[in-house]
Amino acid sequence: MNLILPIFLFFLFLIWSLFRSRITGLIGEKKVSSILSFLDRSKYKVINNIVLKSGERTAQIDHIIISDFGIFVIETKNYKGWILGNENSNYWKQVIFKRKEKFYNPIRQNLGHIWALKRHLREYPGLEYKSIIVFPSTAYLKVNTSTKVIYSTRLLKTIKSYSDIKLTEAEKEDIFQKIKASNMVETYDRSLHIKSIKQRLKKRESAIASNKCPQCGDDLVIRNGKFGKFLGCIAYPGCKFSHSI
Ligand SMILES: [Zn+2]
Repeated sequence: MNLILPIFLFFLFLIWSLFRSRITGLIGEKKVSSILSFLDRSKYKVINNIVLKSGERTAQIDHIIISDFGIFVIETKNYKGWILGNENSNYWKQVIFKRKEKFYNPIRQNLGHIWALKRHLREYPGLEYKSIIVFPSTAYLKVNTSTKVIYSTRLLKTIKSYSDIKLTEAEKEDIFQKIKASNMVETYDRSLHIKSIKQRLKKRESAIASNKCPQCGDDLVIRNGKFGKFLGCIAYPGCKFSHSI
């Protein structure tokens, strides 16, 4: 009798059972944006990572889908462990073994996102917004909600469960363009970037002003060089910081 096939299958089974949780975990952790890329583009227009300004507040929205069937607003939470919560409480709980953490109710958070989006789409007062909260399959959801709080593996099915036509092709395109025009994500990132550069410069200047090397924290001393006096680090040659006086 030929034993090669049964032995091969046995090893396959062994590998699968050993790494099962890892394999399914990896599938679950697949980025939501790549899951959404499987949607039919003629029916669903996806925008990932949106920053909307409304007054002083900024809303950072993970994913918006403008579809024939209304607008989906998706908030993703990459949390593991037991997730406990309900529709209206302020906070939810994450439990991993004996450790408990609380976090702001993502349903409320996403309502804030929808509110911000509504302000940018005032021309469409009758729009239907569908809130979806997505957790990875490494989480164990113990939630009691009327809003959809689901595993990422159920995301496509959940989106496709809506089939009543709500928007025309022209409306879809117009809304898509409006959101894209309101999306501040690049300006937002840039302003954060500029802020961090400014902070670094400020730190450097205040270090020098108090005679400390901004690179290593050691003292600065006045040295004589080819082109006159300059401030140098006492740790030279270990630290090569220099600053003209
Ligand atoms: Zn130094």
